[in-house]
Amino acid sequence: MQTLIFRFSVCFRPRFPLQSHPWQIMNDAWKSTGGLDASRIQAAIFDMDGVLVDSEPLHERAYRDIFAEMGCADTHGVDFVSYYGRSDWTLWTDFIERHRPAQPIEELLAWKQRHYLELLRREKPVIPDAIDLAQQLHARFPLALASGSLHPVIQEVFHLAPVLRSLFQAVVSVQDVPHGKPAPDVFLRAASLLGVPPAACCVIEDAPAGVEAARAAGMAVIAITNSLPPERLARATRVVSRYSEIADLLLGPGRGGDSRFRPPAELRGRG
Ligand SMILES: [Mg+2]
Repeated sequence: MQTLIFRFSVCFRPRFPLQSHPWQIMNDAWKSTGGLDASRIQAAIFDMDGVLVDSEPLHERAYRDIFAEMGCADTHGVDFVSYYGRSDWTLWTDFIERHRPAQPIEELLAWKQRHYLELLRREKPVIPDAIDLAQQLHARFPLALASGSLHPVIQEVFHLAPVLRSLFQAVVSVQDVPHGKPAPDVFLRAASLLGVPPAACCVIEDAPAGVEAARAAGMAVIAITNSLPPERLARATRVVSRYSEIADLLLGPGRGGDSRFRPPAELRGRG
């Protein structure tokens, strides 16, 4: 396990580190989000795809491979980014409406899940900093996982990083609720299982659909820029680019290491 985590700690880099973006974009994002009152937080709820595993590129690759086999590699018309955080059911429903394929949705869902699991097992895109964060937060809060993925996919992620099994007191899949993100169902179910009021929960997300779901659940939400740039996540309570910032926000400054975000030197002191 240690070898695995070390290997991926070398490989994983946030796709959208805040430092690489114009400071004004980040500044606007923070101004629009208001504050996070950590003293009210009694539990943390993690999203999985894009937060615990760098999986959004693998989801896209799985779909692209299947579209190629279906003969619509260049004509599928799917904007993958707009489906980040949403269920496979949602994407396939939209695809079927547009293309009327021969296969029923159940077959398409199974096909994509089978291929995605192959890619997940091969690539093992676990994010070590996310596991470190979960371990730190676990010492203070009850934790839940609330995912738009199906249980077999969640279990495969637990297989890749077995320590996660012991950190999450509750695990909720989109399979367990009537509506996926951006509906609040998975987060409300997670809070209920933890026995914590929604207003005392903080969600950790990477996608707009998850941010909206958390807001609809009445929860604080910290968005990390793993999958999308900060301006796409500006409706979160806070936007960060590093896991250590999340630990600092929820556990107090310094508890998350010394890698807190600093604006570029030439821009310090502005807004
Ligand atoms: Mg996600």
